[in-house]
Amino acid sequence: MSFNSLGLSAELLRAVADQGYSDPTPIQAQAIPLVLQGRDLLAGAQTGTGKTAGFTLPTLHLLSQNKATGKFRPLRALVLTPTRELAAQVAENVATYGKYLPLRSAVMFGGVGINPQIQQLRRGVDLLVATPGRLLDHVSQNTVDLSRVEILILDEADRMLDMGFIRDIRKILDLLPKRRQNLLFSATFSDDIKKLAESFLHQPALVEVARRNTASERVSQVVHPVDRNRKRELLSYLIGSQNWKQVLVFTRTKHGANRLAEQLEKDGITAAAIHGNKSQGARTRALADFKNNAVRVLVATDIAARGLDIDQLPHVVNYELPNVPEDYVHRIGRTGRAGNEGEALSLVCVDEHAFLRDIEKLLRREIPRSVVAGYEPDPTIKPEPIILGRRGQGGGNAGRSQGNGGRNAGDGGRSQGHGGRNTGNGGRGQGSGGRNENNGGRSQGNGGRSQGNGQRPQGGRGSRSGGGRPGQGAARPQHHHSGNRSR
Ligand code: AMP
Repeated sequence: MSFNSLGLSAELLRAVADQGYSDPTPIQAQAIPLVLQGRDLLAGAQTGTGKTAGFTLPTLHLLSQNKATGKFRPLRALVLTPTRELAAQVAENVATYGKYLPLRSAVMFGGVGINPQIQQLRRGVDLLVATPGRLLDHVSQNTVDLSRVEILILDEADRMLDMGFIRDIRKILDLLPKRRQNLLFSATFSDDIKKLAESFLHQPALVEVARRNTASERVSQVVHPVDRNRKRELLSYLIGSQNWKQVLVFTRTKHGANRLAEQLEKDGITAAAIHGNKSQGARTRALADFKNNAVRVLVATDIAARGLDIDQLPHVVNYELPNVPEDYVHRIGRTGRAGNEGEALSLVCVDEHAFLRDIEKLLRREIPRSVVAGYEPDPTIKPEPIILGRRGQGGGNAGRSQGNGGRNAGDGGRSQGHGGRNTGNGGRGQGSGGRNENNGGRSQGNGGRSQGNGQRPQGGRGSRSGGGRPGQGAARPQHHHSGNRSR
């Protein structure tokens, strides 16, 4: 499908073409025509799906078609976001896509002076992106008039509720005209979201897309705290005692993957390693053996696991936590898909607490801890820096360097340029630096990562994003979905 068939104006199509986007993402293909029809929308989509353009483009279209009458420009579209960063990013999208249209937009959030915002509002704004708190400041100062708003968009509504904005949202809803179009975007659909949706959406169309490899609700996640030098023992114990038949185990390095596979073999557990240093033939063989149950354990590095056609595994083990939090989500996305229960276990030693914190921040929740009897961590063991890459070889790269510029793994074969990381708002604009796996013949640069890094995300391959199912109990939504969505 091309953008041209969605019904957007030439000015918008030109702005889209300037961005280099040729095809709409699944959420855009579904949402744009519905919004253009004037429908309310309940959209299940998270960052990385292209959702922002999914609501920005049709909103700008509608605003430019129905010109406001009179000399003064009333505020006609309002986007509420939970965070300042997201507000800024949405506003950037609005500016990007609206550059050929004679519309005025503005962004308003707290923490910066209110006076320039007041000036802007005075001059007239067609579309305002705001965080709820600052918007209410303007309301209380009488510097914004919400009575002419035609389109309301709640972006990342689940996060707004998590952050305690429900009362602010209700206050704002009360100030809007009764007749208006409403779009609600949320990654997850808790009861609270459904309640909110029911309370203000009018016969919403339901659109939902899932990003591949999301932290599916069906995946139970657990952290087993353990000492660094007892991980292998614990892994063998878990596999043996629970009689797991097919386990995908992740290590951070190729060397670690090899070593672990060898050690498991010594423990009598059939295992194969798969990583960038293996020939394509060896990888294919290892994968085939794993799939037909000739080996119980496949030990993989993150990059080697990308592109492998394996998922719906009952057990995924993070033998070592990834230093890139998004990799955790990719890893656990291998389990619990399409109706299968899955289990993702992480063996976490004292050295990895910072990684765990980063992951939990990205997930926006804590992963439950469970100490396995007999493997209690020794509290006297001090954390050691994690060397990313082959340990102690080739001149000892410092391993973990956590400056603003990101982390570098040198000699071990991964180099990650995380220009512009920004996890503060749920992961937009994360790392566009791409990554390279040396020696392995694979290199994934810009455009290789598939999570919200500026490329077009995949519409869900059967996995459903985030929490519950949208639409259950929400105000009689009507399904619109793309063919690749599994029911
Ligand atoms: P979002 O989910 O809105 O945060 O967008 C995720 C990323 O996808 C952003 O960097 C967008 O610029 C990019 N994007 C949005 N729409 C498209 C498209 N149709 N094709 C390619 N990339 C897109």
